[in-house]
Amino acid sequence: MFGFDLKPAYAQLRTLKIARANETRSTCPYCAVGCGTIIYTIGDRAKNVTAQVVHVEGDPDHPTNRGTLCPKGASLQQDIMNDRRLLKPQVRRPGGTQWEDISWDDALNEIAARVKKTRDESFIEKDAAGHTVNRSESIAWIGGFSSAVHNLNYTQKLASLDPKTANLRLLWIACGTEDNLIKPNRKLVDFLKTKEMPVTQIETPGLHTWLVWRDNLIHFTPLLFQQK
Ligand code: SF4
Repeated sequence: MFGFDLKPAYAQLRTLKIARANETRSTCPYCAVGCGTIIYTIGDRAKNVTAQVVHVEGDPDHPTNRGTLCPKGASLQQDIMNDRRLLKPQVRRPGGTQWEDISWDDALNEIAARVKKTRDESFIEKDAAGHTVNRSESIAWIGGFSSAVHNLNYTQKLASLDPKTANLRLLWIACGTEDNLIKPNRKLVDFLKTKEMPVTQIETPGLHTWLVWRDNLIHFTPLLFQQK
């Protein structure tokens, strides 16, 4: 056409958008599966350039997911680039109504001091039966949970469950009503009720997404710190 050779132009069109992007390997933060990701950024690594995330995909070399990502992981770029994303720690002091910015160093020091104080105040070496346990009874852990229920053979493993000896402070089971895990969750709750375990069951409208989990976590976390 008009004496021009269009082959180089077509070849340029077919080049992947991420052809010149930098690759950084990372881990999806959403759930306990821990899928490997590759984050693509444009902008060279010069000091006066702010890198821009243009694409996130599954890491084919990662043994957990081998290149796949669920819809949450696949939308990670929207999380990273979200203008409402918190980029520094904040604290709301006792009785306060506002969140204040705090430096990472101050946040870590405050957390460390409180963990140490709580541990020192609540550490026991032996339980009521005289067994050496060396544990703190006032520090709770919130762990990964996403796929625990349908893989756990609880009817056998928890067959001897007894609310009197379980010494539970709080048993709180939450799930989105449209989550695929809702059925196994309800089954587990039914099982726990047959054992007369004091379970609090929460069903929140929504799918297997962080919006549901965030809502659950907001309501669950303060319960950990209430007096019995
Ligand atoms: S949220 Fe999805 S992509 Fe992320 S770790 Fe879990 S399963 Fe993997």
